[in-house]
Amino acid sequence: MNLVFLGPPGSGKGTQADRLAQRTGMSHLSTGDMLRAAVKAGTELGKTAEGFMTRGELVPDDLLIAIIKEKIDSGELNTGFILDGFPRTIPQAKSLRRMLEENDANLDCAILFEVSDEEVVKRLSGRWYCPVCNEGYNYPMKLPREEGRCDKDGADLKRRSDDQPEVVQNRLEVYKKQTQPIEDYYREESKLVVIDGEQPPDQVFTSLLEHVS
Ligand code: AMP
Repeated sequence: MNLVFLGPPGSGKGTQADRLAQRTGMSHLSTGDMLRAAVKAGTELGKTAEGFMTRGELVPDDLLIAIIKEKIDSGELNTGFILDGFPRTIPQAKSLRRMLEENDANLDCAILFEVSDEEVVKRLSGRWYCPVCNEGYNYPMKLPREEGRCDKDGADLKRRSDDQPEVVQNRLEVYKKQTQPIEDYYREESKLVVIDGEQPPDQVFTSLLEHVS
């Protein structure tokens, strides 16, 4: 099964993708995580992407399409994948379709986690992560046992630079302008499934399992 997860920043795509991947053995591919790793490693891709990411803008399509094409063509995703953060524009969605066709594969469905703007702002202002193991925390929903420290390795928790309030506003606008049209693209293909992303995480996961099973 091949799935795309859609939804504004902070809608829980990453958390739900992680859980589904653990449950099913599907590959979870987060373009945001891949870009952050490239920035940290100081690669050419990272150097190009960093400015766009810091401003809350999208990284140019050709770079993202090349990253995903490499993964799909390598056969690494043959056991089924969850794309988290890709596609984010209509050209990316069209390229994904072409790339899958070229590999005799197809997309089963696009799952949209629907969350209001107010909830996005609330969630992102309480989001922290561990820079060592990448575990995510959320005040007040998922607190670490010791304030400011990761439960797994004790590292000091950090905030994503693009979770600052001004950048969050920009990310929301970018989502509406550039990414939301993809919802209609998949709706017209009868591939869109909408889940209420404001339910508690366990309930969102139950809804997700109902749909994908
Ligand atoms: P995320 O972790 O999914 O919120 O992504 C963080 C940032 O990475 C986004 O705000 C964009 O700057 C960039 N990014 C991630 N995926 C894409 C994509 N498919 N197309 C363009 N930019 C992306």
